[in-house]
Amino acid sequence: MSREQVFWGWGEPGSGPSLPDHAGAFLRSELGVEGVVVSSPVALEAARLGPLQLPDAARRRLEEIAGAEAVRDDAEARVLRCRGKSYLDLLAQRAGDCEAAPDAVVAPADAAQVQAVLFACAEAGVAVVPFGGGTSVVGGLEPLREGFDALVSLDLGRVNGLRSMDARSLTAVLGAGTRLPEADRALAAHGLTLGHLPQSYEWATVGGCVATRSAGQASAGFGRIEDNVVALRCATPMGELATLGAPASAAGPSIRELVVGSEGTLGAITEVALRVFPIAPERRYEGWFFRGFEEGWDALRTLVQSDAAPDVVRLSDEEETRISLALAGPRGLKGQAGGAVLRARGYEGGCLAILGWEGEGDAVARRHGPAARILRGAGGMTVGRAPGEAWRAARFAGPHLRDDLLDRGVLVETLETATSWTKLAALHAAVGEALRGALERAQVACHVSHVYPTGASLYFTVLAAQEAGDPAAQWQRAKAAASDAIVAQGATISHHHAVGRDHTPWLGAETGALGMELLRAVRERCDPAGIMNPGKLRPAGRG
Ligand SMILES: Cc1cc2nc3c(=O)[nH]c(=O)nc-3n(C[C@H](O)[C@H](O)[C@H](O)COP(=O)(O)OP(=O)(O)OC[C@H]3O[C@@H](n4cnc5c(N)ncnc54)[C@H](O)[C@@H]3O)c2cc1C
Repeated sequence: MSREQVFWGWGEPGSGPSLPDHAGAFLRSELGVEGVVVSSPVALEAARLGPLQLPDAARRRLEEIAGAEAVRDDAEARVLRCRGKSYLDLLAQRAGDCEAAPDAVVAPADAAQVQAVLFACAEAGVAVVPFGGGTSVVGGLEPLREGFDALVSLDLGRVNGLRSMDARSLTAVLGAGTRLPEADRALAAHGLTLGHLPQSYEWATVGGCVATRSAGQASAGFGRIEDNVVALRCATPMGELATLGAPASAAGPSIRELVVGSEGTLGAITEVALRVFPIAPERRYEGWFFRGFEEGWDALRTLVQSDAAPDVVRLSDEEETRISLALAGPRGLKGQAGGAVLRARGYEGGCLAILGWEGEGDAVARRHGPAARILRGAGGMTVGRAPGEAWRAARFAGPHLRDDLLDRGVLVETLETATSWTKLAALHAAVGEALRGALERAQVACHVSHVYPTGASLYFTVLAAQEAGDPAAQWQRAKAAASDAIVAQGATISHHHAVGRDHTPWLGAETGALGMELLRAVRERCDPAGIMNPGKLRPAGRG
């Protein structure tokens, strides 16, 4: 294991920002929590681990394949590979609830070793959970045994690095375990970048992003990860699936697309060829205000349908705008000249959009002009570059603040979905209503996070006081209510967080009975023993 996050939260110890002092007053007045530290994560030594169940013969075989030092079953290794980083994951990890932790963590050095590990685990009947950056927020890494006695975490961290570059074709081949910043550092030497910036950027891996159909913050400009996957290799318990790197193909249904989003249930992705982009020399990030959420997203709709969308598009609803301005404190727009301008121009209580353009200097200017005209015509008012730059500087800060909120007894979680422009208003209302109905005194904030010509995604952030007793059950109730509302609105159960364990009960509503059968048939062909990531993307049981 190389660099590691803390097992109970985000990032390395002390690596991120903390809640500002004035947040305490906000938490008291809005959520009714005291705003002081009321709980702390347990020490590693206090984490509770189940007995080791990996048979000696299977362990010896894994050591023969990957080397003795690449097979670990010490407490630290098991606790660190126990889960991802959702609110439910963090509640359990902070409490040291690691009874189900993997029996061992196996870290093969290359694709051939990954393949050999999968053959060995299939033969021995050992379940396997592929582990990339560990940032899943849908229970994708939960070590569900589903009838298997032994389970190992397959750590792809050593299957990393830039393997090859084709600067003429603008493609790069990367080991699946390469973390996004490492990939970008290697590409920067060639003046290139992935253009893929999820909020989990600091830790997520290339393979994990492909396995979950990730969408970065700049998806409007650079596409979602699957838009940029040119080819991949995936080791399955039945052998390797490898796809051709042609720019387009009419050779039947896409095998590549079967693997993209397969969440470790078919096998482990070992290598990905991705489209890459020249590093932008010029960046222009701005804040825009709209009088209301619908006015704002209609402006975005016009932009994207006119092929004039910026590369980063993010529009907060009234509640999210109010909360971000309050938490920005005296330096935010509110309470100073900015607030007075909003009031005078009729935008007080409105919605803030962050829009970002990247590219060659003249290209940015060329794109910015027409977009600004559309935005103004649709009712928008620019509030200049400061809010845009402030957002860009803090774009990865959120997850660090979450740990502080958990210390203070706050329920804090996000969920996301997408639908057509026509159905967006009803979806926004229904999910908000479901969450507010399920949680007492909750703050439910939302933003449009990704836009397409045909629709957009909505990303909800929920804050409430944690219920004493069983805070996990409190969130599970709210999440179920929100998921039911999403399905009832005909929206997707996940726009970019994936399915994992948490969304599995709602997958059938989207995929249909025959669709679920097809997924099962593919899985059974690649993994007849059902060892790959049990309980994810499929109902409980080995089917
Ligand atoms: C604070 C925070 C912010 C986030 N922001 C975003 C965002 O902006 N956009 C977004 O799309 N997502 C976001 N996510 C979700 C998460 O970061 C993504 O799902 C990411 O793609 C997961 O990558 P990972 O390498 O961490 O994979 P992991 O979390 O390690 O794994 C995720 C799933 O993929 C499987 N898997 C991992 N690697 C492989 C592989 N090589 N082969 C086969 N299966 C594999 C795992 O078994 C698991 O089921 C966020 C998460 C957090 C905690």
